[in-house]
Amino acid sequence: MIRDASDLLAIVPVGRNGQRMEVNMRIKRILSQYRRDFTAEYECEHCGKVHVGQGYDDANFHNNVIPNMVCKSCGKKAGKNYRPLATKYPEGMEV
Ligand SMILES: [Zn+2]
Repeated sequence: MIRDASDLLAIVPVGRNGQRMEVNMRIKRILSQYRRDFTAEYECEHCGKVHVGQGYDDANFHNNVIPNMVCKSCGKKAGKNYRPLATKYPEGMEV
């Protein structure tokens, strides 16, 4: 189970200075999903680079983890206007 951006393979959770940074990665496309575990393309809204990474489809992941991802390519800070996607399954639902 993935609970933190640092578990995501393609996305580095710290900036060049080693500080955890706020960024604006967004899910561009879900490549596959099994229950709540998914693989998706995350697109950086700053440089447009697409990284493939794992995800976990719950509210915590969408609201807290994705907005804290740092782009591996540009390491930029996020905008403040990130709008999380809704989960595929309702919170607490057994899938
Ligand atoms: Zn970027």
